[in-house]
Amino acid sequence: MPSYKYSVYNSAKRGNRGGGGQRRSNKKHGEYIDPARFVQVAKGATVEEYVPTHKFADFDIDPRLQANLASKGYETPSPIQDQTIPAALEGRDMIGIANTGTGKTAAFGIPVLNALMTRQQSKALIVAPTRELAQQIEEEMRSLGKGGGFTGAVLIGGTSMGPQLRDLRAKPRLVIGTPGRIKDHIERRTIDLTQFNLVVLDEVDRMLDMGFVNDVTSILQELDKNRQSFFFSATMDPRVQGLIRTFSNDPETVSVKTGDSSDNVHQDVIPYGGTHEKMDKLHDLLLQEDVAKVIVFDETQRSVEKLSNELVARGFAADAIHGGKSQGQRQRALESFKKNRTKILVATDVAARGIDVADISHVINFSEPQSYQDYVHRIGRAGRAGKIGYALTFVNK
Ligand code: AMP
Repeated sequence: MPSYKYSVYNSAKRGNRGGGGQRRSNKKHGEYIDPARFVQVAKGATVEEYVPTHKFADFDIDPRLQANLASKGYETPSPIQDQTIPAALEGRDMIGIANTGTGKTAAFGIPVLNALMTRQQSKALIVAPTRELAQQIEEEMRSLGKGGGFTGAVLIGGTSMGPQLRDLRAKPRLVIGTPGRIKDHIERRTIDLTQFNLVVLDEVDRMLDMGFVNDVTSILQELDKNRQSFFFSATMDPRVQGLIRTFSNDPETVSVKTGDSSDNVHQDVIPYGGTHEKMDKLHDLLLQEDVAKVIVFDETQRSVEKLSNELVARGFAADAIHGGKSQGQRQRALESFKKNRTKILVATDVAARGIDVADISHVINFSEPQSYQDYVHRIGRAGRAGKIGYALTFVNK
């Protein structure tokens, strides 16, 4: 295990425990987080071997779906798929506790697509907290549902209404979207959800964190009363449980124990004095060889844009994603990052949610997160798929 050169664990601890217990805010707003919580040695990248009890061929699903699975190279179901698909094919309501990277999209996608392919009266709505996640789901559903004999629509904000209205006129049986835009279409009466008898809420916890509880509730109330529901969430706090209890019918719960994903992440702080020192330290860090693929978090759209421009001016292959960019710009930035054309993605918390990029080596918190929960979400982007990742947080000396 490489020792990390920025290790200041003890000083960070002393600095905050020995100061007479005064709770000094370490940022302008948000929760105070003891910097000692940003320091942790990775426990190791062990992933327990899971032995699936099914093969895809065992599932009684449409042959077109089987063929699409094969052409995507999916051979064995992931644990969440192995456990969700059989009960979901029986029509049960499902609760999946799983985060991105577990194969959760196909876990709900396969039973939903099977219903769409085999029953003409099936209509499905998939709700996701962010545009990026909605589009990732759409990509997966498009490839798994190829030749399935139904049309779809993606209803997300930040894109013009024209194409969405055109897609909706074709009476799509699969609709994927974000809560705000779906609600918008309901209010404009450009979509009628009363016949939708399958619903998926993905990343329920994030949707509630982002303040979508009212939108989500009113969307669920529009749907066919006699429906099958899927709720996926990385965490199961009381709010999530409350929402699920209200809107589900005798659900079956499947939980994928991936452990705390931060177990695979070396966490450390980078102390800095002033703005110049902060930028110089970031520059030095990004030059290190092992810093292969990085998300740099900063606080606001403006600071993200500024930092990304500064890095580009310094010769780094960097790009930015934040809510102030158009959907197309965000898509392109994400694509280049995925394909390793840019090595550094500067992002706000909101824009980075749901990003599914497997091989991120470093998460750098150029500004501290608003809450410890945000911190855990940020650093969970590194250390995926059994690899060790690094999370480095800048803290003001
Ligand atoms: P998800 O958690 O749904 O975002 O999926 C994570 C990644 O795993 C995606 O890139 C999927 O295409 C891929 N994936 C999902 N299920 C399987 C499977 N059974 N076999 C191989 N790859 C898969």
